[in-house]
Amino acid sequence: ADEELESIPLPLPSSSTSSRECKWSDTNPYTSKKKLQSWFQLSNGNWELVKIITTSASETVISLSDGKVLKVKDESLVPANPDILDGVDDLMQLSYLNEPSVLYNLQYRYNQNMIYTKAGPVLVAINPFKKVPLYGNDYIEAYKRKAIESPHVYAITDTAMREMIRDEVNQSIIISGESGAGKTETAKIAMQYLAALGGGSGIEYEILKTNPILEAFGNGKTLRNDNSSRFGKLIEIHFSETGKISGANIQTFLLEKSRVVQCNEGERSYHIFYQLCAGAPPSLREKLNLQSVEDYKYLSQSNCYSITGINDAEEFRIVMEALDVVHISKEDQENVFAMLAAVLWLGNISFAVIDNENHVQAVEDEGLFSVTKLIGCDIEDLKLTLTTRKMKVGNDNIVQKLTLSQAIDARDALAKSIYACLFDWLVEQINKSLAVGKRRTGRSISILDIYGFESFNRNSFEQFCINYANERLQQHFNRHLFKLEQEEYLQDGIDWAKVEFEDNQGCLNLFEKKPLGLLSLLDEESTFPNGTDLTFANKLKQHLNSNSCFKGERDKAFTVSHYAGEVTYDTTGFLEKNRDLLHLDSIQLLSSSTCHLPQIFASQMLTLSEKPVVGALHKSGGADSQKLSVATKFKSQLFQLMQRLESTTPHFIRCIKPNNLQSPGSYEQGLVLQQLRCCGVLEVVRISKSGFPTRMSHQKFARRYGFLLLESVASQDPLSVSVAILHQFNILPEMYQVGYTKLFFRTGQIGVLEDTRNRT
Ligand code: ATP
Ligand code: MG
Repeated sequence: ADEELESIPLPLPSSSTSSRECKWSDTNPYTSKKKLQSWFQLSNGNWELVKIITTSASETVISLSDGKVLKVKDESLVPANPDILDGVDDLMQLSYLNEPSVLYNLQYRYNQNMIYTKAGPVLVAINPFKKVPLYGNDYIEAYKRKAIESPHVYAITDTAMREMIRDEVNQSIIISGESGAGKTETAKIAMQYLAALGGGSGIEYEILKTNPILEAFGNGKTLRNDNSSRFGKLIEIHFSETGKISGANIQTFLLEKSRVVQCNEGERSYHIFYQLCAGAPPSLREKLNLQSVEDYKYLSQSNCYSITGINDAEEFRIVMEALDVVHISKEDQENVFAMLAAVLWLGNISFAVIDNENHVQAVEDEGLFSVTKLIGCDIEDLKLTLTTRKMKVGNDNIVQKLTLSQAIDARDALAKSIYACLFDWLVEQINKSLAVGKRRTGRSISILDIYGFESFNRNSFEQFCINYANERLQQHFNRHLFKLEQEEYLQDGIDWAKVEFEDNQGCLNLFEKKPLGLLSLLDEESTFPNGTDLTFANKLKQHLNSNSCFKGERDKAFTVSHYAGEVTYDTTGFLEKNRDLLHLDSIQLLSSSTCHLPQIFASQMLTLSEKPVVGALHKSGGADSQKLSVATKFKSQLFQLMQRLESTTPHFIRCIKPNNLQSPGSYEQGLVLQQLRCCGVLEVVRISKSGFPTRMSHQKFARRYGFLLLESVASQDPLSVSVAILHQFNILPEMYQVGYTKLFFRTGQIGVLEDTRNRT
């Protein structure tokens, strides 16, 4: 609808507007006395609540909030809910479930600091970008006692906890959303609640302290989020029979290594580097020959050293304390810091060209000396590793000199590998400290905080992997909320009108099909010595052009139709990032070290290398470590993750970012809408509204509530008992259905029974 086009000033009619002329709700008790309201889309895309003055067969006259009166086509209006429904805490309660009504409801609540809203079984959380008074012990206590009913992370975590204890089934809390939407904060809020409820042994304190550590080493400032997680994380918290936390285990996914050696203008590398430089005590500073951040090339390239409101030195103190709590010895801590300093100094190593073929040698400066000392290796070995490559040709060992760009690549690859190994090693140590003694199945709650769907102007290998992961997660979400739900209704023979939903199986096939899928073709090309990003892109176009989710683009690009929209990927760097090769020379260098950590890292790298497949030969023909490709490893991690999640009862939290400025108080409708569409919130509400989300087998129902019966039942079979209970509690027929094996209830129906049971 175009407001300008229709803008014809009209005299305001008297209030005698007949409600009969209106298409909807003259029977609606809430609006019959008022002027009817509707949603009208302005030319800027925002929706405005307008009053309907008159309607005729094809046209409606409306008045805008500024008093302007317009004549518009009927199709451009969308029904609005009565005022009494303003700000309902579950979108399911809305009479009209259209996009503007949902947007308005969320905004109405958001403006009053009610950042949480239910969308049927899903919790929607809108990032407030400011402190909101919703957390802390008083709130935790209130949610525990069920004294507050408003939607909250605490409430959904409480449900998970109760269901775990009631059903003895593992639970999961799956948090998704774009970068900056609040996933990590939400995960921490859930962990706080679990720690408060299941605490006592002290291990909960350790679990909470893993957050500052992992954030220091795995988060950095990006243009979208000052504290952006550059890895995915699943934390599985285990409980004892009495509901107390007994231990935990953390799994991480695909750390963005490239950030260590390169990041964009205005972004930062991992927080820990800045924290170390700002907060290291003098003795450590001297030992590691630490300088200030500006002196390190890896940190200075992006021209961004600090984050508003953050004191890196203070953060360093917090991290050191946390490392103590998770039992990382002072000695190991020092080793960790030495590795960080080694990475920083590696970036400062420079090369001098020595001949007219661009071959180089490493310059003997502070960088080289510091790295030698910090890694604990021989200076000549280091120089050779960075500037030459040993190769086997026939039976002869020969040494090839590297060019400037090859040497820089070798140096950066070493820095990235050291950092990635350090990160994995830290997680391993944390897991040892949190280890669960005796595990019981059905007694755990996993919290998943994983990068959301990404679509930038330029999308590379990282986005390719991240978006693939999101397709998998989206399918899991769909399966649980739509597919499995409806299949269960059908199986149990209840009346049910099918709800359609977006199935993303086609896109997953595009990624996973063998041998002609994106991942297989990528791996295949990565093993070819002569494969390049261009030959890869051409292969995709050749084999996948008939796939409806795929479109070849100009040059080296291709487009995938994801569930959340189309993304065009630039294949530049795909093969190299997928191969992720580290020269054997570099691994040998680390294993020759006199220090503890480099030796461990070298053996980590070697075990990885023993596995077959990709990267047998590098372009230059040099012998490199053979290992699993990054994409293949990621895929198998993802499959394991999905398997684990499938054995749990899932609880979904969808985080929404209300603006791109990281600023409180601004709610951009278009941005919110796009995120709501991406994650299928509206469909979920629709299905929940018409569906029966609560279910229980006849037996369980009879067993659980049978004792509440006031009169005895003639037949003792579970179904008869169940029906008697339903009658006694006056559960209306439209509120439940009796299936072959289970009873199905609409939302909220079982509450009375539970309350009575708990009081009895
Ligand atoms: P990424 O994918 O980049 O890791 P994310 O979804 O994990 O992003 P967070 O780091 O959790 O996003 O949130 C970004 C910022 O938003 C936080 O640093 C914090 O300032 C603010 N924020 C998020 N949730 C809340 C909340 N519940 N209360 C107050 N501030 C919040
Ligand atoms: Mg995060």
